[in-house]
Amino acid sequence: MNQIVPVRTARTTCPHDCPSTCSLEVELLDERTIGRVRGSTENSYTAGVICAKVARYAERVHSPNRLTKPLLRTGPKGSGQFREISWDEALDRIAAEFLKAEAAHGPESVWPYYYAGTMGQVQRDGINRLRHAKKYSEEYGTICTALAWPGWIAGHGRLTGADPREMAKSDLVVIWGTNAVATQVNVMTHATRARKERGARIAVVDVYRTPTMEQADIALVVRPGTDAALACAVMHVLFREGWADRPYLERYTDVPAELEAHLAERTPEWASAICGVSVGEIEAFARAIGTTPKTFFRLGYGFSRQRNGTVAMHAASCIPVVAGSWRHEGGGAFHNNGAIFRIDKSLVEGRDLRDPSVRRLDQSRIGAILTGDATALKGGPPVTAMLIQNTNPMSVAPDQEKVRAGFAREDLFVAVHEQFMTDTAKMADVVLPATTFLEHDDLYRGGGNQYLLVGPKLIEPPGEARENHRVICDLAKRLGVSHPGFEMSAREHVDWMLRRGGYGTFEDLKDRPLVDCQPPFEHAHFLDGFGYADGRFRFAPDWTSVAAENDGPMGPWRSMPRLPDQWDVLEAVDADHPFRLVTPPARNFLNSSFTETATSQAREKGPRAKVHPDDLARLGLADGDPVRLVNARGAVRLLAEAFPGLLPGVVVVEGIHPNSAHPDGRGINTLTGDDQPAPYGGVAFHDTRVRVERWNPVDVSPVCT
Ligand code: SF4
Repeated sequence: MNQIVPVRTARTTCPHDCPSTCSLEVELLDERTIGRVRGSTENSYTAGVICAKVARYAERVHSPNRLTKPLLRTGPKGSGQFREISWDEALDRIAAEFLKAEAAHGPESVWPYYYAGTMGQVQRDGINRLRHAKKYSEEYGTICTALAWPGWIAGHGRLTGADPREMAKSDLVVIWGTNAVATQVNVMTHATRARKERGARIAVVDVYRTPTMEQADIALVVRPGTDAALACAVMHVLFREGWADRPYLERYTDVPAELEAHLAERTPEWASAICGVSVGEIEAFARAIGTTPKTFFRLGYGFSRQRNGTVAMHAASCIPVVAGSWRHEGGGAFHNNGAIFRIDKSLVEGRDLRDPSVRRLDQSRIGAILTGDATALKGGPPVTAMLIQNTNPMSVAPDQEKVRAGFAREDLFVAVHEQFMTDTAKMADVVLPATTFLEHDDLYRGGGNQYLLVGPKLIEPPGEARENHRVICDLAKRLGVSHPGFEMSAREHVDWMLRRGGYGTFEDLKDRPLVDCQPPFEHAHFLDGFGYADGRFRFAPDWTSVAAENDGPMGPWRSMPRLPDQWDVLEAVDADHPFRLVTPPARNFLNSSFTETATSQAREKGPRAKVHPDDLARLGLADGDPVRLVNARGAVRLLAEAFPGLLPGVVVVEGIHPNSAHPDGRGINTLTGDDQPAPYGGVAFHDTRVRVERWNPVDVSPVCT
């Protein structure tokens, strides 16, 4: 058998919405074809390890289902009926519709919409340059980080943390609220290295027994939304047993005495009744932390996706402060490194053109916005035209019945620029074929590590697929706006940002595409002070001034606790909806990306609701039975899976499967709410009440998706 010999191996960066931002080595078979994808050992964080879904990227990039031609809708919205058109016709039509919307209702009736399908600074964020040039409605980007980041920043004063590679030097790694095996495999690399080389223990806190928890020495399954109770009880024990680092607290924190007094009643018994973890387990967890100076907390996003998620993130982040873990290499905490990079986005986003009086619409409320909710529209005109890049709101946005009704509006023009025919692209009037990261140039920053990384174009795109940047520049010409950013190539933008940050040039980095931006130990560990003027960590934060770029405060922020505490604002279960639904990521998907490849679909085996066997028995159901999850927002049909690794009363549905994977075309976000949690919005994806009931498959009439 003839073996294809790779022409060469090239280096690049994974662009997906994942904290790891892995460095990759890609076999290039010819100018249009890749072979195998491996992790690059040049990156000392990802260290040659990548996830299976990107290792098989050839299946995705060369999929016969890639979009390769611009398409115009010819049937009803959502019918999937399109005909091929030229790029010129497609762009002319989009420009004409945008100008028509502007003439009828003003420029704010056009809403460019995007998110994290690629994390590239050029291909993701360049859409804002067109937005600002035309004074189109702005987007308030809340769907992922708006709950977690303010919770971290509230205490620390900035979005930075210890070098994540220090996990390998730790004696106790606490992985809290993230299924790292599925969503950021590199965390496990460093944690297991610490175990192998130092005998470190691994503790995992989550709401169900994940594959990550299977590897833990200390495994704590909490009720959804009760992480702050566990955190308070752990700190109670640290103070009670004399494990709190009092000299450190005096030197580095705001109100340690008040905190200690407040925690006096937050006993393990109090917390156990709330979070479902036994008193003995809480005591043992606290003892492990209190007696292990080098304890490293890796705090994920999962436990922040609750209506009290910001408070929970802050509470968990207080533990290493009370314990004084930050003093030690291998100790402290990490959530995200966003503030360590010097990336000047002013040119790529056209920030000099920005008009602060233009309204900013919350991306998570797209259903309310498209169905004419005056509050969500901020009293302004309706949205009647959209360009959507890098996101799939018909699948990933909450409160899907509203989203579906909005996209079905006959007076709404939608252009979608995508790699595949997603659920959102199916609702579009014009569909444009997009490049993947292998087919364009871009710049990335590590979310879960400290590297700035370049991703050069490696192969030619299939058919007529075009990069986001070119589409934005071509539309700008047709819409009659100018800016230096529209005259530059993507590579020139990358080069400009690298030079402005003092990181070198594109040429310097295209063959060894990474810069280690890790700050010095003293700064990373806040030993030169936390990010407030007085250098002190805030146990009692001012919730109204956590992050200047956020909208808000909003939601029930006035009742937020002054000090770390269990905050009772969850969507409460009731007699009709006795289960709490959690919707964490699936291992073979990444949000709705990778749902289009056969291998990922086969491995995920369709949508399933994990339910405790005792609950199934009580309901007269068995493993594999068809069930409906129901609440006031709608109903979702899928199969039941008996799963003993969660607490009774909790349901877990992993992954955002395409709508068509559900018998009536309604996906899991039919059930999640789009109300804005305090203090800065976001989506409480894991804070949903439902009931579980049997349904008869013959009763379902399919709807178009
Ligand atoms: S682990 Fe994350 S960053 Fe690394 S290859 Fe997979 S998706 Fe990309």
